Amino acid sequence: MASKKPSANKKKVAQFKSSIADFGDIFESESSRIEEIAEERKSALRNKACDSKNRYATRKEAEEAAAWCAVERNRNLRIYRCKYCGGWHLTSKSQ
Ligand SMILES: [Zn+2]
Repeated sequence: MASKKPSANKKKVAQFKSSIADFGDIFESESSRIEEIAEERKSALRNKACDSKNRYATRKEAEEAAAWCAVERNRNLRIYRCKYCGGWHLTSKSQ
C-alpha cells in the first residue's frame, strides 16, 4: 500500500505539470489572438480616420474644402492633422 503512494504522487505531479504546459499554450495563443484583434482594430481605425477620406496636403487646402462644404452642403466640418499619413482630413465629428 505504502509503496503505491509515491508513484501515485509522481503521476499527479506529471499530470499537474502537463496541465500547466497546456495552460501555457492557451495563454500564448490567447495573447496572439488579442494582438491580432488589436491589429485589426488599428487598421479599421486607420481606414475610418484616414484611408477612406479625402486627403489634403496642406491645412489651407483642407480649410478651403471645409469652407466649400459649409457653403455648398451646409455642413460644418472640422479639419484635423492626420496622425497616420501626416496630411489633413475633414470630419463632421466635433472632438
Ligand atoms: Zn490620413
